[in-house]
Amino acid sequence: MIKKYILPLIISAIIIVNLSGCSNGILKKSTASIITSSMQNKESKSKDSTGADSNKQINSDIQEKNHNKSTPETNTDIKILKDTKKNEVSKKRKVIVIDAGHGGKATLEKEPIAPGSTVMKEKDVGGAAGVSTGTPEYVVNLNVAVKLKNYLSKAGYKVIMTRTSNNESLGNIARAEVGNKTNADLVIRIHADSFTDSSAKGASMLVPDGVGYSKDISSISKKYGRIILNTLVSRVGMKSKGIITRTDLTGFNWSKVPVILIEMGFLSNPDEDRLLSSDSYQDQIAQGLFKGIQKALLGAES
Ligand SMILES: [Zn+2]
Repeated sequence: MIKKYILPLIISAIIIVNLSGCSNGILKKSTASIITSSMQNKESKSKDSTGADSNKQINSDIQEKNHNKSTPETNTDIKILKDTKKNEVSKKRKVIVIDAGHGGKATLEKEPIAPGSTVMKEKDVGGAAGVSTGTPEYVVNLNVAVKLKNYLSKAGYKVIMTRTSNNESLGNIARAEVGNKTNADLVIRIHADSFTDSSAKGASMLVPDGVGYSKDISSISKKYGRIILNTLVSRVGMKSKGIITRTDLTGFNWSKVPVILIEMGFLSNPDEDRLLSSDSYQDQIAQGLFKGIQKALLGAES
C-alpha cells in the first residue's frame, strides 16, 4: 500500500521542485502541502478498505523524506503525472491543531503569559465540573475534540491533537508550541465555561488581542472565530455570547498561528451540563465546529 505510492510521490516532488525551484521555507511548506494533498486524495479512495488514519501520518512522513531526494525522471512520466494530478494538486491540505482544554490533573507550576513577560500564570489550574452530572470539563473537552478530529480527518484535513488522553497535563506554552511547530492553519482550543450564576448559558468564542506573538494573527483569528461561532450556534441552536477578545491567555500570546478558543456552554448551568455530557450533543457541537472551520478556511482562500 505504501510502496505503491513511492514512485508517484518522488515524481510529484520533482515536478514541484522543478517548477518552483523552492529554496525558502514558505515554498517548501506549500510544496509539502501539495504533495500530501495529492496523497490524501488517493487515500480517501481506498479508505473504505482500511479506515486507518495512522497510515496518513506514515505516508506524510515518507512524502516529506521523498521531497528531499532527487532522482531523474523522463518528461513523459512528468506529463502523465501532471495530467492525472491536475485537479488534485490544486487542493492544499490544511493543518488543524485541536487543543482539548485541561487534563486529568492540575499543574500549578507557573509560566510567563507572553514572550518576554514577567507576569506568570499557572500552567493549568484545572477545569470546571458539571453542576448536575459532576463530569469534569477535561472529559467533555476531549470527547468533543476526538469527534471533531474524526470529521476533519475524513474531510482530508491533517489533524494534530495536543493531547489524546485524560492522563496528560500540559502547560499553555507547550500547547501553543504544537501549533507553532506544525505551522497550523488553525488552532482550535476546546473548553466549557462555568460561572457563579447558574442561569448563565451559551457559547462564546475567545480570540487573541495582539499581545506577544499573537499580534500578527489576532485579526485573522477574530475573523475565523466569528465565522465558526456563528456556524456553531446556528447549527446546534444554542445561545451565542459572542466574540470575546483576551490579552491574558498564555495559549494565545505564545501562538504564531491563528488560534481561537470555544467555550461550548456552561457546566454551571444544570441544563447545559446535562447536554454537554451527552454523546449526541457533543457530536452536534463537533459537527457545528467542523462546518464552521470549513466555512472559515475555504472563505479565507477565495
Ligand atoms: Zn476550560
